[in-house]
Amino acid sequence: MDLYKALGVSKDASQEEIRRSYRRLARKYHPDANPGDKKAEDRFKEIQHAYEVLSNPEKRREYDEGPRTFFGTQGAGQPGGAGFEDISDLLGGFGNLGDIFGRATNTTQRTQTKGENLTVNVRLSFNDALNGVTTRIGVPVEEACGECRGTGAAPGTAPRTCPECGGRGMQSRDQGFFALSTPCLRCGGEGRIIEKPCKVCGGNGRVRRSRQVKVRIPAGARDGMKVRIPGRGGAGRRGGPAGDLYVVTRVEEHPVFRRRGDDFVVEVPVSFAEAALGAQIEVPRPGGGTVRVKLPAGTQDGKQFKVRGAGAPKAKKNSGEKGDLIVRVGVVVPKKLKRREREILEALAEARDEDVREDLFKKVGS
Ligand SMILES: [Zn+2]
Ligand SMILES: [Zn+2]
Repeated sequence: MDLYKALGVSKDASQEEIRRSYRRLARKYHPDANPGDKKAEDRFKEIQHAYEVLSNPEKRREYDEGPRTFFGTQGAGQPGGAGFEDISDLLGGFGNLGDIFGRATNTTQRTQTKGENLTVNVRLSFNDALNGVTTRIGVPVEEACGECRGTGAAPGTAPRTCPECGGRGMQSRDQGFFALSTPCLRCGGEGRIIEKPCKVCGGNGRVRRSRQVKVRIPAGARDGMKVRIPGRGGAGRRGGPAGDLYVVTRVEEHPVFRRRGDDFVVEVPVSFAEAALGAQIEVPRPGGGTVRVKLPAGTQDGKQFKVRGAGAPKAKKNSGEKGDLIVRVGVVVPKKLKRREREILEALAEARDEDVREDLFKKVGS
């Protein structure tokens, strides 16, 4: 079942549109208006459930992001496939409706609510991530409407308490052997009525806009690192605290240096002569400059050397400590030989009377 379809609204519908559509449909299919009509009753439950999820920003986001995790794998409400029968399973039967809505209404609509947590990616160059940087990022947020100060009522007017439910947001109806408690139809469970909606936010009390937030990225930031900025997420509702902002760093790959924890790994080509005779070589350093590495005579292909403190600052500890630079040497075999080189190598082969595969065959066994 698609909850947006169930309420007859589009995926980007505002809270106000959702509430309006809910109220219209709930009136039409309410059991009081359709006594003994099982289809209307099922439809009513479907509408109730869709409203319960979509009117709650937190649940709505979970639903938008991944219906499967939202419903769980055991749930009957697999998106798309479920029909009316499944809805009552999902809600745990008709008798529990009041319980479910009662709880949802009490905790998410009637009381102060913390604003939503937001996650935003920030792209960083290799050097900015290495050295740290202060940058500004655009954060899409829902904020309290400035025109009506978040009340949703046009300036000069105020929302008034719903006369139908007395501000409770819930209505109880005697359905014979059990009492059915549902969100108030008059106010959509809000407990208050806005007679002249604010023109800027349409009565929602909230507006979407992009807010510039200054973010300090610590030196040594890694790709995928999450920086939490408390209180810079979505605005709270009814005076609740703002949510948090999570900034996820996306660091561009360097053509030469590969990050491994707080270390960098660099592949460095060395000649056969350097590896065999030993040498002092210059190696590029992350962030600029070079470091010297001493290769001992007889250095093997793939051998790693550690240059202490030439890695990334340990961003998490903020202690000034740094990781290491791991230098991995690769012995380069000449693709073409000049005549003199060929002669020298042939002389070497002759002088070095050695079978390099002797060990291999020994290990295989006879
Ligand atoms: Zn009401
Ligand atoms: Zn407004």
